[in-house]
Amino acid sequence: MVLERINFLKDEINKANYKYYVEDNPFISDFEYDKMFAELKELERQNPLLITPDSPTQRVGSISEKFFPYKHKYRLYSLDNTYNYEDLSDWYNKITKEFGEQELVCELKIDGLAIALTYENGIFVRGVTRGDGITGEDITNNLKTIKAIPLKLFKPVSVEVRGEIYMPKTSFEKLNEENLKNGEKPFANPRNAAAGSLRQLDSSVTAKRDLSMFCYTAILEAGRNTEIKLVQQNQLFDNTHTSIPQDLHTSFKTHYDSIMYLKELGFKVNPNIRLCKNAQDAINYCKEWDEKRFELNYATDGVVIKVNNLAVQEEMGFTSRAPKWATAFKFPPEEVTTTLLDIEEGVGKTGAITPVAILEPVQLGGSTVARASLHNFDEIKRLDVRIGDRVYIKKAAEIIPKVVKVIDDEEHYNRPAYNPPEFCPSCNAKLNIHEGEVNLYCDNPDCPEKQRARIEFWVSKDAMDIDNVGPSIIEQLYIKGFIKNAIDLYKLNMQDFMQLDLVKEKSAFNMYNAIQESKTRPLSRLLTAFSIKNVGKETAGLLAGEYGTLENLMNASEESLSNIEGVGAIIAHDVYEFFRNEKNLKMLEELKSLGVEPAPPTQNISDKLKGLTFVLTGTLQNMTRDEASEIIKQLGGKTSSSVSKNTSYVLAGENAGSKLDKAQKLGVIILSEDDFVKMTEG
Ligand SMILES: [Zn+2]
Repeated sequence: MVLERINFLKDEINKANYKYYVEDNPFISDFEYDKMFAELKELERQNPLLITPDSPTQRVGSISEKFFPYKHKYRLYSLDNTYNYEDLSDWYNKITKEFGEQELVCELKIDGLAIALTYENGIFVRGVTRGDGITGEDITNNLKTIKAIPLKLFKPVSVEVRGEIYMPKTSFEKLNEENLKNGEKPFANPRNAAAGSLRQLDSSVTAKRDLSMFCYTAILEAGRNTEIKLVQQNQLFDNTHTSIPQDLHTSFKTHYDSIMYLKELGFKVNPNIRLCKNAQDAINYCKEWDEKRFELNYATDGVVIKVNNLAVQEEMGFTSRAPKWATAFKFPPEEVTTTLLDIEEGVGKTGAITPVAILEPVQLGGSTVARASLHNFDEIKRLDVRIGDRVYIKKAAEIIPKVVKVIDDEEHYNRPAYNPPEFCPSCNAKLNIHEGEVNLYCDNPDCPEKQRARIEFWVSKDAMDIDNVGPSIIEQLYIKGFIKNAIDLYKLNMQDFMQLDLVKEKSAFNMYNAIQESKTRPLSRLLTAFSIKNVGKETAGLLAGEYGTLENLMNASEESLSNIEGVGAIIAHDVYEFFRNEKNLKMLEELKSLGVEPAPPTQNISDKLKGLTFVLTGTLQNMTRDEASEIIKQLGGKTSSSVSKNTSYVLAGENAGSKLDKAQKLGVIILSEDDFVKMTEG
C-alpha cells in the first residue's frame, strides 16, 4: 500500500519535473506539486527503508568534503574548430571525396560545462565532469539537484549520456545582481557562474542556482530489461582512438536518431538541432544562428557539425584529440572594436543625464551598431574613455550594445579626458548631483528634453497606455509646438494631428480618440504617468489601492504614506512633496478641468478575500496581472509587490522569478492560475 503510494508519487513528481524543466510545459500547478512532494517526504520519513536514489526528494543538497577523481569509461574528445565558411567547406569536401555526399547534423554549441552522466537500468548513478577527457570529478550529488537531469528514465536502459550544463542568461543576471547586493564579486559570464555553481561542496548551494542541461551524445550499453538489442561489449577506455562502442551502431544508423532516442528517454535536447543535406545547408544554419543567438536565453559560441551516418563516423575515426567526423564552427566574437566619435548626453524623464556613445558604424551580432550605452558618468570615468579612442563594444543578452573596454594605445593619453557636462544639454540649467546617486540631474521642471521624455512615458503601456501616439508622433507634435508637456495632449483636436506628416483623417481620429479614452484610466496609471521620483507602476498601485482617490492621496500625511507596506520613508517623502509643489497642484487642476479624472475605485463585490495579501508574479495565461489584482481588490483582498511573512498567497504564472523563490523559502502557499480561479469563483 505505502510502497504503491510512494511509487505513484515519485512517478507523478518526476513526470511533473520533466514537463516543467525539460519540455517547458507544466501540466500541474505548483500547489499540487508541493502537496505531492510533502506527502512523499512524509511517507519516506516514516519508511526510510523505502527511499530510493531516483526519488525526487533526493535532489536536495548534501555536503561533500571533496570531489573524487573518476576515470571515464569512454574518453571525452575535444572538437576541432573552424572559423570561417571556407574551412567548413574544405572539411566537408574532404569527407565527400572518400565517402560521397553526407548528411550533416547541426547543433548549437552551448557555452557551458561538458559532463558525462551514467544510467544503469534507467536509474541515474553517476555524473562526472569532463576534466581532461580521461579523468574527471564525480559531482553526482550536485548534478542530482538539477531538475532537467532525470533521476529515472522512461525506459530501463543503461546508457552514458554527454551534454552541457549551462545557466540561463536571465538567471545569471539575477545571480550577479544578488552577488553585488551582498557585496560579493559578480561572475564574468554565465559559463563561469555555472562552473562555480557546480563546484560547490555544499550541493544545496548548487540547488539554488538555476542550472539546466542539454544532452547531445548517447552511448548505449547492454543492460537488464533493455528493450533494444545490444551487443554486449565491455569496451573499457584504453586510450586508443576507438571510442564509440560498436553496440551503438547496431541500434542506430544515424546520430540524429540517437538524439531523438535521448529525447524519448526523457533527456532535454536542444530544440534547434537540424538535419542538413550538405555543407551549404550547414553554412546557412551557421549564418542563421550567428544572428539569432542573441535572442536565446543561453550562451552559445558556435555550431557543432557532425556527419550523421554512424557507420561513416566509425570508419573516419579520430585524431589524437578529436573526431574527424565532427567540427565546431565558432561564431565571430560578440565583441568588436570601433572608434568612439562622440559622447552624446541625453535627458531622461527624471532629469537624469545619460551618456550615449556615438560610434563609427560597425557590424556586430548581425546588425549595424552606431550607438552604445555608457550607463553613467562614473562608468565613463572607470573606463577612462575619451573621444577618438578605439573601444570594444559588446552585445550579449542586452538589446542595446555597450562599451566595455578602451584600447590603451599611445594616442589615448594624448586625447583630452572626458569631463561630465556642467549644464543641461537641453535647457542649459546647472546640473546637480542628488545625494546617494551617481547620476547628474537637470532639475529644471520646464526642461524641454525632460518634458519630451515625460510625454513619451505618459503615453507608454505602463502609464496611460495611449495607443497610436508613439515617439515619432510626439516628436512632431513637440517640434511643431503643439505640445510642451503631457497635459497639452488633452488640448489637441483632430485638425492638429492632420497637420503632421503622413497622418490622414482616419489615423488622426484614432490618435485623438485614444487620448480621450485615456482620461478615465485608473488612478494607479495616472500616478505612474506623473513620473514622481521613485514611484513606478508597483508603488503607484499600492498608493491607489490604499487611498482610492486622488483627493485622499493628496491629503495623506507623510506618516500615513510611510505606513503602507512596500512604501518606505523616502518614497513617502517624495510623494508628499510632489503634492505640496505649487506647479504640480496647478497641473492637477488643469488636468481636472480638461476632464482627466481617474475612474472611481471599484466597489467590493464581497469580503471573500478580506485580510488576505497576494503577491503576483510571472505571466498568467487567461488574464493580465492587473486584471487579477482587480479581482483580488473587488473581493476585499490586498496585493503587495514583495513577498514577506505577511504574504498569504503568491499567485505565480509562467516564468515566475525571484518572488517565487522567496515564497518557497518562506513557506508561503503558491497558487497557480487555476487555483486562483477556483478560489475566487463559486
Ligand atoms: Zn534641462
